[in-house]
Amino acid sequence: MTGRTETVQSAAAGSGKLWDVLIVGAGPAGATAAAYLASFGHTVLLLDRHRFPREKVCGDGLIPDALMSLRALGLYEIVRRQGHCIDNILVLSPSGIRVQIRAQCVTLKRRRLDKLILDEAVARGAAFRTASVERVRQAADGSVYADATGSDIHIRARIGILATGADVALLEDLRMLGRRGHSGIAARCYVRSPVKIEELVVSFDRSIAPGYAWIFPLGGDEYNVGCGVFFNERRGRKVNLRDAFNTFASKVTIARALLDRAKSIGPLRGARIRSGLAGSSFHNDASILSIGEAVGATYPFTGEGIGKAMQTGSLAALQVHSALVKSSLEPLSQFQSLVHEHLMPRYFGYEVAQRWISKPWMSDLIAARIRSSINLQRMAAGIINEATDPRDVFTWRTLLPQWTRRSNAT
Ligand SMILES: Cc1cc2nc3c(=O)[nH]c(=O)nc-3n(C[C@H](O)[C@H](O)[C@H](O)COP(=O)(O)OP(=O)(O)OC[C@H]3O[C@@H](n4cnc5c(N)ncnc54)[C@H](O)[C@@H]3O)c2cc1C
Repeated sequence: MTGRTETVQSAAAGSGKLWDVLIVGAGPAGATAAAYLASFGHTVLLLDRHRFPREKVCGDGLIPDALMSLRALGLYEIVRRQGHCIDNILVLSPSGIRVQIRAQCVTLKRRRLDKLILDEAVARGAAFRTASVERVRQAADGSVYADATGSDIHIRARIGILATGADVALLEDLRMLGRRGHSGIAARCYVRSPVKIEELVVSFDRSIAPGYAWIFPLGGDEYNVGCGVFFNERRGRKVNLRDAFNTFASKVTIARALLDRAKSIGPLRGARIRSGLAGSSFHNDASILSIGEAVGATYPFTGEGIGKAMQTGSLAALQVHSALVKSSLEPLSQFQSLVHEHLMPRYFGYEVAQRWISKPWMSDLIAARIRSSINLQRMAAGIINEATDPRDVFTWRTLLPQWTRRSNAT
């Protein structure tokens, strides 16, 4: 049997039945929604164009919001066991000022993380099939139809959820897309190196502004090394990530030391980022929702999106459950405002932070201030732990003592 036939036949197993929920995309957003909806007793069909485990271009970093969502799914311990636990982030400002931030993080390759979440969804009763969905339609009778892999597979469901990540073609077809363009791009590679780095390293080198480069240890001698850039008016969309990566690799001391003696075990690969909870509708005014990176759930400034994808997945599951129980579309129409109410203030905060660090001299000033103040170090850790609003750190008030000292010195 060829790979394609196998794919078509396994997806065809989902045809002909009315599912309660069809979910397209089995990344963290889709698989989380599937896990909760299956637990609530609904019939759930989860489709992804890739067989799992599959690669996803990512930094493989799990910050506290992702760990909290994994804990809620009962996956925290296994993720810690399979991953690499880290409790320190080393931030390097454009001119090399070093700031240490305490935060509990874990790194785990997405191949393994996404498979764990998917397995949990399947263990709770969701059906998973490999199929590339080409079209999703909202029918006049209220149900959702999907054509998958060659349009010879037709799936029907009461409610549809699009969790397709930065690939927003299906949203565009359904006129759920406000902004086609993405907010940024990022790339990563895998290396093995005998040089030991124990913390997550984040560098705001000038070559990457407004964005950052990272070195994330994966345990043993493996590292995920990459960089990402957010677009803005000044920089526009003209970014050569490979050049930015090469500059980081040759110029920033810690990166040069690691990479000079490293062996590549995975090439530099790039992917798009949609951030800021903007650019897409969360609801098509009938029975289709969209979640995760497809609705821009990735954070501005940090580019972290696994935790927020999972959070939009769990919020969607609650609304879909309520809609199915009440046989009413009302809970679906509340989804967007619910997400905004729960999450939007944090995105505003991160957007402010992103604007500040887009100017390297400001990043330097902030780094110098944080380095000299234990209270600001606590607040910076609070940003990662979601206990501090970034707007409380990225303010002129934070910088003022530094400015006062500078003007006194001249
Ligand atoms: C280089 C880089 C580094 C990053 N580093 C981090 C990090 O360290 N930590 C972090 O938290 N976030 C990071 N992110 C962001 C993170 O990868 C995303 O926020 C996260 O993957 C979003 O999850 P999701 O479930 O919404 O989408 P995805 O994980 O992209 O999953 C979408 C799924 O939908 C499937 N799909 C799409 N279209 C179809 C279709 N038509 N039919 C069937 N299936 C379809 C895809 O195959 C895919 O499996 C990084 C992003 C990049 C680009």
